[in-house]
Amino acid sequence: MNNIQEIKPLLKANNSPKVVITTHHKPDADALGSSLGLHHYLEKIGIKAQVITPTDYGDFLKWMPGEGDVINFEEKEDLSSQLVNEADFVFCLDFNALKRINRLGAIVKNSRAVKILIDHHLEPEGFETYRLWTTKASSTCELIFWFIELMGDVHLIDEAVASCLYAGIMTDTASFKHGSTTATTHRVAAMLLEKGAKSNRIFEAIYDNYSESRTRFIGFCLSEKLQILPEYKTALIVVSAEELKRFKIITGDSEGLVNYGLSITGIKLSVLIVDRTVARKMSFRSKDTFPANEFARKHFNGGGHFNAAGGESQEAIEELELRFKTAIKDYKQYLN
Ligand code: 5GP
Ligand code: MN
Repeated sequence: MNNIQEIKPLLKANNSPKVVITTHHKPDADALGSSLGLHHYLEKIGIKAQVITPTDYGDFLKWMPGEGDVINFEEKEDLSSQLVNEADFVFCLDFNALKRINRLGAIVKNSRAVKILIDHHLEPEGFETYRLWTTKASSTCELIFWFIELMGDVHLIDEAVASCLYAGIMTDTASFKHGSTTATTHRVAAMLLEKGAKSNRIFEAIYDNYSESRTRFIGFCLSEKLQILPEYKTALIVVSAEELKRFKIITGDSEGLVNYGLSITGIKLSVLIVDRTVARKMSFRSKDTFPANEFARKHFNGGGHFNAAGGESQEAIEELELRFKTAIKDYKQYLN
């Protein structure tokens, strides 16, 4: 693997290089915040970069500076493909495997661009030329700060960069609560506040910005849909396509729902299964020794972090629920 420090001279050596930044499908605040934070930083060193997301994302991210210029691959496939094919550099942020960017994956793979991975997920598959990767970083946004620091450019961080990066650190650490939050994370966050990020505004923009029906949907799921499997210290919520429709659920609305299960005393694993039209999407959150990523990879074509992972399936939702309840039986030792 090449040394990431070579990137800045390489970018600068190229007269107006064509740069694309992309991130995982259904981007969250870390994915979009790191992409836009990097975009604003590159602009400061005279490089124009185009952010392309594989899909749309929640309205709660639309306050981010520069968000209006993001291209959604699903809306502009031809333009996105052309930009990636012509790119000299493609930055791949907050994902470890090309399947995480859907059909954009094959286009990135075949592009002649230098590929730079900046990520904190376990086991990157290794499609990139340069890598800034560690699972020790709280978030990709924290890694973008490290990247800027490695480039010797912390002095260039302004309010736009700082706001985007702060958002991803805040959400990926669940407001500085997760074990991934280190003293360095706090130092980085403190520097971002000094550079102009407004913590209260960012918190409100992300967490106090839901529709009434989304709030009622959360209440409905918690009172009507929550199953407890006491033998496995597991909480499970299964949401049907009809329920998503009834509560007018849009992209981003189910974010955070899976965390409620883990807040119940004694629960070690919380699972959410949502019947999205294209596939059944699963989210896993665990405590202590339950390997959520391994479980998701082995049984549900997924992966992620040790205690926070996801997966998906084409099975009917009833079958998937049953298969989950069978698969969990082999993991009893990790849940007790
Ligand atoms: P979420 O449940 O919030 O969608 O995802 C939690 C974490 O699991 C994400 O940070 C991501 O790393 C991982 N993840 C979610 N879905 C998938 C998937 O389908 N495949 C893989 N490999 N990882 C996933
Ligand atoms: Mn992340």
